[in-house]
Amino acid sequence: AFDTLVLGGGPAGAAAAIYSARKGIHTGIAAERFGGQVADTMGIENFISVSHTEGPKLVSALEEHVKDYEVDVMNLQRATSLKTADTEGGLHEVTLASGATLKSKTLVLATGARWREMNVPGEQTYRNKGVAYCPHCDGPLFKGKHVAVIGGGNSGVEAAIDLAGIVGHVTLIEFMGEMRADAVLQKKLKSLPNVDIILNAQTTEVIGDGSRVNGLTYKDRTNDEIKHVALEGIFVQIGLVPNTEWLKGSPIEMSPRGEIIVDAHGMTSVPGIFAAGDVTTVPYKQIVIAMGEGAKASLGAFDYLIRL
Ligand code: FAD
Repeated sequence: AFDTLVLGGGPAGAAAAIYSARKGIHTGIAAERFGGQVADTMGIENFISVSHTEGPKLVSALEEHVKDYEVDVMNLQRATSLKTADTEGGLHEVTLASGATLKSKTLVLATGARWREMNVPGEQTYRNKGVAYCPHCDGPLFKGKHVAVIGGGNSGVEAAIDLAGIVGHVTLIEFMGEMRADAVLQKKLKSLPNVDIILNAQTTEVIGDGSRVNGLTYKDRTNDEIKHVALEGIFVQIGLVPNTEWLKGSPIEMSPRGEIIVDAHGMTSVPGIFAAGDVTTVPYKQIVIAMGEGAKASLGAFDYLIRL
């Protein structure tokens, strides 16, 4: 059995594995795909102390760093269920899609999240070529340009306010007849001179010139008319979905949105089980934050182990 088993191989999981291994304890890491969301990222300009890097480059650096230590790396392994220990200090058991089971005294759950996609033609073609999901990450790439934000929930409206200070013009597109964001955010958004809001609009296609986005079409749901907006970027803000489906039925406490609730040491509601990164309720989903949280959760797990 492991002392600490990490589930997930994104920045949070990699940091957790390194911090555990450096304590000289028996550490394992199982990941469906090592690198996580970073593997899908082009330019990264906010990984502090590195002015510019690319996703795949950072993923291999993470992998190399983990391999510097005695860590059992199990890549391409998806966890499908969790059985928590019967007694405090007992072994937790994780079942993998292969049918194998892994046992450990402590766990760090770092299975991340995924952006909900619009699932319209052009979205995949122009991903990273105008279609973006993270305003903190990609906002500055659209300086002075016209962008759309899809979604009028809190994250969409926050993104639109944030982007309005950087880009030339923001068009917020909301499916329903009204935005769901908090009133104070909506008020702020409406006060900005370079923002327009289109309600009752269902995005139907991302349009481009073959190499970059140059517009989108939407259906006006009040009369079914198809309309076109010329623009250079589209920020999709219709939800970040935590990868916690595999924990359904476990006693681990989650928020209404399915994010794992953690305390200040990264511990979940189950003693000995910790969690870190985008899969948790920790606000602001970013690489530097996920790494810090992963390190914290592992130190929390180590503290827990020495008290057993
Ligand atoms: P993830 O990176 O999501 O990793 C989760 C890991 O868990 C993966 O290895 C996955 O395969 C694995 N996993 C999932 N389910 C299971 C399972 N059931 N069993 C086993 N393994 C599982 N942040 C920045 O700071 N700067 C940026 O420029 C930036 N750009 C981004 C661009 C894009 C396109 C995207 C999508 C995100 C971007 N982000 C950026 C956000 C950043 O990538 C995330 O905040 C960060 O990767 C979260 O790390 P994580 O380890 O918590 O989760």
